[in-house]
Amino acid sequence: MDADSEALARAQAHGWSDKSKLDYGAIALAAPSWASDAQVYEWTGDEGEVAPANASLEERLYKDVHHQRAGTAFSALDLSVTQEGPVRIVPVTQFENAGLHPRLLENVKLCGYEKMTAIQAYTIPAVIMGHDIIAIAQTGSGKTAAYLIPVISKLMGKARKLQGPRPNINSPDYDPRRDRVCAEPLVVIVCPTRELAQQIFNEARRLCYRSLLRPVCCYGGVPLRNNIQELGKGCDVLVATPGRLCDLMNKPHLLSMKGVKFTIIDEADEMLHGDWSDELNNIMGGGDANEDADHLYMMFSATFPPESRRLAREYMAQDYVRIRVGRAGSSHRNVKQDVVYVEEDAKPNALLDILFNEEPCRTLVFVNSTYGVENVDDYLFQKGLPTTFMHGKRSQFEREDAMHKFKTGDTPILISTHISGRGIDIANIGHVINYDLPSGVGGGIDEYVHRIGRTGRIGHVGRATSFYNDRNEDLAPGLVNILLETQQPIPDFLEPFKPESGLAEFDDKSDEELDEGDACATGPAKASEEGTKATGGEIWGDSKPVTGAGDWGHEPSVVADDAWVAAPAAAGIEAKS
Ligand code: ADP
Ligand code: MG
Repeated sequence: MDADSEALARAQAHGWSDKSKLDYGAIALAAPSWASDAQVYEWTGDEGEVAPANASLEERLYKDVHHQRAGTAFSALDLSVTQEGPVRIVPVTQFENAGLHPRLLENVKLCGYEKMTAIQAYTIPAVIMGHDIIAIAQTGSGKTAAYLIPVISKLMGKARKLQGPRPNINSPDYDPRRDRVCAEPLVVIVCPTRELAQQIFNEARRLCYRSLLRPVCCYGGVPLRNNIQELGKGCDVLVATPGRLCDLMNKPHLLSMKGVKFTIIDEADEMLHGDWSDELNNIMGGGDANEDADHLYMMFSATFPPESRRLAREYMAQDYVRIRVGRAGSSHRNVKQDVVYVEEDAKPNALLDILFNEEPCRTLVFVNSTYGVENVDDYLFQKGLPTTFMHGKRSQFEREDAMHKFKTGDTPILISTHISGRGIDIANIGHVINYDLPSGVGGGIDEYVHRIGRTGRIGHVGRATSFYNDRNEDLAPGLVNILLETQQPIPDFLEPFKPESGLAEFDDKSDEELDEGDACATGPAKASEEGTKATGGEIWGDSKPVTGAGDWGHEPSVVADDAWVAAPAAAGIEAKS
């Protein structure tokens, strides 16, 4: 047996699946298919009063065996909830009494969502009441649905009145070139990575099913003509990465932002602090002059360092609400964390030890550089292990292929740079390994929190192992804080970084405190409501349902009428342009 076959036999004996090599020649000949071209429900409303079911699409949207389902540790998601801002949101307890559109409620059921997560319990009524929102909640706590559900529900009943033009693509005479329209989305969702955009798009496809609302997804790497084709069929909910979105906004015959009612920034702290400030200003300003006073702005993330919060508030209306589940930046208690001391040159062997000494499971390995990712991938591949890899220099086709194979378990080991650190929601990731810890000057401890949050999602438990050595000293105090907070063992080499009190210490000021003595802060936070306890499935503190028996005919009683609640465009937008 040659060395390769021997390695393969060993890996398989240990339970790892067969490694597969990509045949790039064959692939080059096949027409690529992009995640952004995935089928959406198409209904123009001309065909009758009731949107018909589409069994095969339903199967694809809701019955995908690889889709994440809630785990049994779901109740661990309930944590104390903090609110700040001039209005106090009364949380809702159940989807059924949240005043949601009946069609949306059906879609929520098809998704298999039974109980709300804490963040959903607050953002759903807040959006329905028409407030700008900054929402902070742990990784894997359903933030995507927390913004999509209320927004889509609000629009479902009004789609016909509000939506832009669209061709009848179900008509036999439909000609995609001749009948193309300029897209006028009602909702724009922006996020930092292409993979995350695909994921949000998929959630939007599920929630818009059997409605007039048509989601479209645009991100870099996919030929522009594919985006143009999809936008040309009409677009109500646009999910995009910032670069591609700004490219499209510069082509006003293809995309107009004038009808946008909701602008949502996911992974907002990253977007505010990444290299996207120009794009973000452009997007938040609505490009071609969206002068709609009813326009709502929302920002979501699991981490929100004070500086990002200051920036975020510049975009918010006066009556914005800030909702925080647990501490901003706290990591998930459902993730068991180990930090082990490993010198740089011992890392390959240490990784191999883990992969060969433990039960095989879907494993995500973070390495900091592109070059490092490829090296680790090569090394493991030679050891017979089924690996694939992700980094920003791979072609879009390769990125989609790698994610697909990891998702389906064809290659259960994914080596990636930080680009897979945020937002990615893949079922059954059992183990996250920080082969390299994030650097203090890079994403720092917040990036650590996001990375380990790829496991232990929505009521599942997971593991994270991090290789630490003297190079990571800048991260040590933050790491110790997280370990203390989540009651994880502190290894001896991290003992010197423990705070004197022996307790986790976080600088987690309220927005009011941030304002004090801070000349550049512009946020209004007038009242704060600390520590509203959201306890488990049964009772939400002193909460009452916001509306009566799911009566869609009326919005929750706190809302004056069916009209859009006027929210003056945040002053900061003009100031920033
Ligand atoms: P976050 O953005 O907070 O990290 P996601 O929005 O990616 O989390 O959601 C994580 C997973 O939880 C997704 O697979 C989603 O389908 C699922 N999910 C969301 N809300 C619920 C719910 N109420 N019940 C069960 N599963 C849910
Ligand atoms: Mg998310």
